[in-house]
Amino acid sequence: MSILIYIEQSEGKVKKTSLEAVSFANALAAKTGEGEVVALALGTFSEAELVGIGTAGAAKVLHVTDPRLSEGVIQAHSSAVAQAFKKVGAKTLILAKSSLGDAVAARLSIKLGAGLVSNVVELPNTSSGYLVKRSIFTGKAFAEASISTENKILAVKKNAIDLKTDGAPAIVETFEVSLDASDFASKILSTERATGEVLLPEADIVVSGGRGMKGPENWGMLEELAKTLGAATGCSKPVSDIGWRPHHEHVGQTGIKVAPSLYIAIGISGAIQHLAGVNSSKNIVVINKDPEAPFFKAADYGIVGDAFEIVPKLTEALKAEL
Ligand SMILES: Cc1cc2nc3c(=O)[nH]c(=O)nc-3n(C[C@H](O)[C@H](O)[C@H](O)COP(=O)(O)OP(=O)(O)OC[C@H]3O[C@@H](n4cnc5c(N)ncnc54)[C@H](O)[C@@H]3O)c2cc1C
Repeated sequence: MSILIYIEQSEGKVKKTSLEAVSFANALAAKTGEGEVVALALGTFSEAELVGIGTAGAAKVLHVTDPRLSEGVIQAHSSAVAQAFKKVGAKTLILAKSSLGDAVAARLSIKLGAGLVSNVVELPNTSSGYLVKRSIFTGKAFAEASISTENKILAVKKNAIDLKTDGAPAIVETFEVSLDASDFASKILSTERATGEVLLPEADIVVSGGRGMKGPENWGMLEELAKTLGAATGCSKPVSDIGWRPHHEHVGQTGIKVAPSLYIAIGISGAIQHLAGVNSSKNIVVINKDPEAPFFKAADYGIVGDAFEIVPKLTEALKAEL
């Protein structure tokens, strides 16, 4: 018996969220004795990238080399995962919670007759039944779900589990799947990539600005800070509404929901709709000149002061350190 992990990629690189799913599966296998931890990688990857999945805790990687699978073609991915699941005799599939993961997991739930829980935040409690804790209401509450089917699918929330980095290199095997035209009935015609070097939904650090930045001409200092930290840039909704920043940077309830290790909010008041998109961040740093700004209540660290004085000094200090 094995636990299977569905790996997502971005331009041939394994997504960090998928590595977290591997670490989750590794810890689950240690807890339940479910056997080998096997990852499934679809499309074009370098050998080093595949072997490296082992550091997160996979013993083996099955690689389907068909280059058409490098894109997130939902039906084809679902078929490939279902075939691998049966081949390795898995009862549990682990994947990262994401828009592609959600679409693939929903289809697999039907194909495999599997109970599915998404947004999982910790290992299931198997002492009596199979209880899974999940995050709900954009991170404001938790729900406990019970799975009673033999096959199970768990979609793990980003940053919910520490990434294992000391695993042995994985054994990589080529895996053949049978896909037909219906698996490619929908095609991705074009992909528009965000212009920033680091993609916002994937970023480990986000530097985000609000209306307190006064105008688009002042974003240079945030970009400089972001570049220094290897961070993505984000913004509040009004900032993108008035065209200071592109819409794909809009963070919050009606925008992108992020869960980085570090979220730096600069000149953002901390309205509840903004917080809904950031409250899964591991650490929040707020820079705001108003000590009463609501964001300080959600902050791990706060600096009360003028962003136009603080941000350049912070960037210089970081440049000296990093
Ligand atoms: C249905 C609905 C959905 C919404 N969805 C979202 C969403 O997804 N995301 C989102 O962000 N908002 C959303 N909003 C809007 C939200 O309610 C707030 O209006 C918005 O987040 C405020 O943006 P802001 O903090 O940039 O601006 P402001 O509220 O104007 O705050 C600016 C902040 O900058 C500070 N500041 C000013 N000058 C400086 C300076 N020199 N240095 C440091 N700090 C300074 C001020 O003290 C203030 O706290 C939504 C609203 C509704 C009704």
